[in-house]
Amino acid sequence: MELRFLGGASEVGSLGLVVRDQGRTLLFDYGLTPSDPPTYPRPAPTDVDLAFLSHAHLDHSGMTPLLSRLPRARLVATPVTIAVADLLTKDALKVARMEGYLAPYTPSDIHSLHARFTSLERHATFRHRGVEVELTPAGHIPGASMMLYRGDKDLLFTGDLQTLPTHLVGGAEPVECDVLVMESTYSGREHPDRKETERRFRDKVAETIERGGKAIVPAFAVGRAQEVLMSLASSGFETYLDGMARKVNEIYEAAPEYLADPRKFRRAMEGVHLVEHPGDRKKALREGEVIVTTGGMLDGGPVLYYIGELYHDANSSILLTGFQVEGSNGRQLLDEGTLTIDDSTIRPTCEVMKFDFSAHAGHSDLVRVAKESRAERVILMHGDHREALRDAIAPFADVVLPENGKAFAI
Ligand SMILES: [Zn+2]
Repeated sequence: MELRFLGGASEVGSLGLVVRDQGRTLLFDYGLTPSDPPTYPRPAPTDVDLAFLSHAHLDHSGMTPLLSRLPRARLVATPVTIAVADLLTKDALKVARMEGYLAPYTPSDIHSLHARFTSLERHATFRHRGVEVELTPAGHIPGASMMLYRGDKDLLFTGDLQTLPTHLVGGAEPVECDVLVMESTYSGREHPDRKETERRFRDKVAETIERGGKAIVPAFAVGRAQEVLMSLASSGFETYLDGMARKVNEIYEAAPEYLADPRKFRRAMEGVHLVEHPGDRKKALREGEVIVTTGGMLDGGPVLYYIGELYHDANSSILLTGFQVEGSNGRQLLDEGTLTIDDSTIRPTCEVMKFDFSAHAGHSDLVRVAKESRAERVILMHGDHREALRDAIAPFADVVLPENGKAFAI
C-alpha cells in the first residue's frame, strides 16, 4: 500500500491523501486553505477511482469539484456532507469573485460533480468492485465520518474528530485498525473544561447586555454557529443569526438522524431571529442582544458590518468562538488589538474575548484514540506541531510524520 499527501500533512488546510492499493487509486478528502488568497494542494492524480469525503469543511472538501474533470472518480460521503460541501464550494466561488482571485474551478464543475456522488449513511459500508469502506461518526460536526478502508491492511482515515459529546453531535469512538491516519490539530494542547467555558461565555453575554451593550459572536457557519446557538438556547437573550449558517441549519433540520438531539436543535433554532435581508441588520442592531454571525475569523462576511457599527462602544463585546489562524483579522485583534477593514486599520474599544468551542479532540483524547485503535502504525496529519503527539504515541506504535508530496509505503 502506498500513501501520498497532496497537502495537509504538516499543516491545517488543503488536505488530500492518495492511497494506492491492489491496483486502485483512492483519494481521502480534497480541500483548500481558505486564506487570503486561498492556497491549494497538489493536483489529484487523474487515475482516482474513488474519493471519500470525511466532512464538509473547506479544508477537506474545497477542491472536490475538480474531481468532476477526472475520467472516472466517484465521490462518497454522507448526504449531509454532500449537501453542505455543495453550499461551501459555491460560496468559495462567490468569495473568489468578490475578492478577485482566480478560482480553481467553475460553477459547472460543481454542478457536474452531482452526477459523481454516492451518498452513504453514517455507519454504512460502501462496497464497489472489491473496495470496502466503513463509515463511523467522527463527532466534530453533523455528517462527519471516519473512513475504515479494508485493503491489504485496515486503514482508518479520521478526517477531523472530536471524542467529547457536544450539543450538536455525539463523540467519536476509537476504531480498531492496522494503520491509523489521524488528525493532529491539537497536538500538545488541551481544551479547557467545556461546561465551564460555556458558563463563562453566557456570563459574559449577560454582563454585556446588563451594561447596555450588544455581544457580537463571530462563528463559522458550519457547526460552530449552531453549537453556540444551542449553548445560548435557554438563556432567554434576544439572539439574531446572520450569514450562511441559516442555510446550514436547513440542511441539518432535514437530517435529524445526524444530530445528537434533534428536538433540542429545533427548539434552539426556533428561538433565534434570522437576518434574511441586509435590511434586517439594522433591526438586529436595534433589538438584538446577541448577534451570531459569519465569518468566524473576521476576514469577511456580515460580522464586519456589525463590528463597524459597534467597535467604538465600550459597553459592547466581540466574543470569538474559534481558533484564529495566523494572518487572520481575528488573530490580529487578539495579538495587536486592531482590525483591518477595507484597507483601514481600526482599534476597537469594545471588549474582546475568546472562548474555546473547538470541535477537535485535545491532545490526551487523541493519544487515547491512537492507543485504543491498537494500530501498529500511526500516521499523523493535519497539524502544525505534530511532534508532541508523536512523542506521546511512540511508546506503543510506530509513528510517521509524512511530508506533502512524498510517497511512502506502509
Ligand atoms: Zn473540520
